[in-house]
Amino acid sequence: MHAIVESPCGDADVTEVAPSALGVFVGRAITLVLVAGPLIAIALAVVFLWGRLFSVHDLALTAVFYVVTGFGVTVGYHRLLTHRSFRARRWLKVALASAGSLAVEGSPISWVANHRRHHRFSDRPGDPHSPHMRGNEVLGQLRGFAHAHVGWLFGNDPTSVRRYAPELLDDRDCLVISRMFPLFAVFSFVAPFLLGWWLSGAIGGALTALLWAGVARMALLHHVTWSVNSVCHMFGKQPATQRDRSTNIPVLSLISFGESWHNFHHAHPASARHGALAHQLDPSAALIRLFERLGLATHVRWPTELQIAACKAA
Ligand SMILES: [Zn+2]
Ligand SMILES: [Zn+2]
Repeated sequence: MHAIVESPCGDADVTEVAPSALGVFVGRAITLVLVAGPLIAIALAVVFLWGRLFSVHDLALTAVFYVVTGFGVTVGYHRLLTHRSFRARRWLKVALASAGSLAVEGSPISWVANHRRHHRFSDRPGDPHSPHMRGNEVLGQLRGFAHAHVGWLFGNDPTSVRRYAPELLDDRDCLVISRMFPLFAVFSFVAPFLLGWWLSGAIGGALTALLWAGVARMALLHHVTWSVNSVCHMFGKQPATQRDRSTNIPVLSLISFGESWHNFHHAHPASARHGALAHQLDPSAALIRLFERLGLATHVRWPTELQIAACKAA
């Protein structure tokens, strides 16, 4: 799972028009607000709301929004739209792409293009967010980690959607959702605010729901996604392939919905399951299995016996 707050304005990724200097500045400013803003908001909340930080409503809303947006990215953006690991009913595709948009990681089309480029160049020049392009000494590794985790979002290295996601430009549903991305991003905060207000009956409840189920939830998922780009290319084991520097990080498997089995994913990108072995937790694969059983997903590309056996042997 590799995410982006690459194009918060949402249209450059679709129209492929080179952004102006002002456009680049505004994009970076919005990205800075989305990256640093939540941390500042949480710090202020801890100081000013200590003792009445959150309610049961806030916890429930945070969990629901985290799960919905997380699966939107992993099952929708990543396994369905990027790698075609399965085919989905049209309404399910629209629902998953919409849920992914609520994660505020960029529009579906820009996310897919960047991620396909990552797989195309994996830890070689051209990879938009490899941690291994800043030298092997300690400082170079630290700079590489920072670049892979969040720094690349501030660079000016746009990915061509015509080259990397041409079929999505012909997919009317994806095009419309991508163009509507700014609205999804706003709704991602408005919805927790309104639900918090409705559930608590007070403006204070609306504001804490906005903080936790909106801002903090978005920030947590961002950092989990970015950790797949950074941590899962620097630490951990490589049981499936050593073609690049991708690794498996078991401890992140639940919170990343199975995406941290990243080495197997790089070995077999189209596989609907990333945690190939039975004990490897992969909630996204479980959800795809459920969709398959309900007849909502077909042509699911499960790992072959050979791929699994190779992993077991490693
Ligand atoms: Zn990767
Ligand atoms: Zn991938």
